[in-house]
Amino acid sequence: MSDLDQILPAVSSGDKKAVSRLFNLLEDRRAEKIDEVAEALDKLYLQSLDRSHVIGITGPPGAGKSSLLSRLIQHLREKKKSVGILAIDPSSKISGGALLGDRIRLQYDASDPGVFVRSMASRGEYGGVSDRTFAGTIVLRSAFDVVFVETVGVGQSESEIAGFVDSILLVIQPGSGDILQFLKAGIMELPHVLAVNKMDLGEPAQKTLHEVRAALGHLHSGESDWQPKALGCSALDGKGIAEIIDVLGRHREHLTQNNLLEKNRTRQSIEWIAQSLRAMFGHRGVEKSGATGELENSGMNSPFETMQKLITEIDTLLYPASKTKE
Ligand code: GDP
Repeated sequence: MSDLDQILPAVSSGDKKAVSRLFNLLEDRRAEKIDEVAEALDKLYLQSLDRSHVIGITGPPGAGKSSLLSRLIQHLREKKKSVGILAIDPSSKISGGALLGDRIRLQYDASDPGVFVRSMASRGEYGGVSDRTFAGTIVLRSAFDVVFVETVGVGQSESEIAGFVDSILLVIQPGSGDILQFLKAGIMELPHVLAVNKMDLGEPAQKTLHEVRAALGHLHSGESDWQPKALGCSALDGKGIAEIIDVLGRHREHLTQNNLLEKNRTRQSIEWIAQSLRAMFGHRGVEKSGATGELENSGMNSPFETMQKLITEIDTLLYPASKTKE
């Protein structure tokens, strides 16, 4: 019947053109499309609940995230893994790939069918975590073996992407003392893997790696038995890249072995709906509507349709007059 019926199987098989079309539909806010897209996203959500590995990559500007990501892509492609990348632009409210596409300086072969890159604005219309970012990660995890969600910054950005990803990789560069303070003070979400990049700089890089390891000795990720790992690498000469891939893979294994992968993803979807609703209607509005119960019941199987349904319900409840006018 619809375009979407044809697109979905193609998305699941990793067809870049289909993935791109679905992203365009996601960004199309015309009301008549929203329900249809929500239904499609729910299908992908359930199908991919145990698929792929979604990795958040974060760190201050200049640490070498783009350079490192280029290396990680290269390495994964050599291992025949397909890779999807979602670059989050924290500053802009404007969405759309083309405008934001050049912020991240990735080096990859655009003609390679196994690599897909898309940029998105981090903020939704309501100022909260963007609903499209969550949807974007679901689309990518349905289509590719490994997904990277890339954000800039230290502190808040980890907490934000923690709601979308399975693992967090923090990239640090030599001399980043303030990051250690953030970590120790518990200000930021504890990453699962920390990469001290630019090890080719020698002594200062070694010193930072030692400091990070010493700091981690006192910290725990809070996730049963996973001790965050700090590694040195150089995106310049490619050293340490294989080890990073290896440790990230081990974290993915840790999640499945402890039944945490699907559990975390389900919790994230419920949290995402709750946060989005709060951003739209305020805490009080959501509480008054009694939406939380419904969220727990159906949010885990059909987050996107549940979200649409709750928006309509709360809207009608809070603004009955505007509805009767229509
Ligand atoms: P991003 O802002 O975190 O994405 O950082 P980029 O990947 O754009 O890198 C910032 C700068 O650091 C660029 O000039 C890179 O060439 C440089 N750079 C990245 N990785 C390395 C590395 O491993 N060693 C050295 N010496 N420079 C690097």
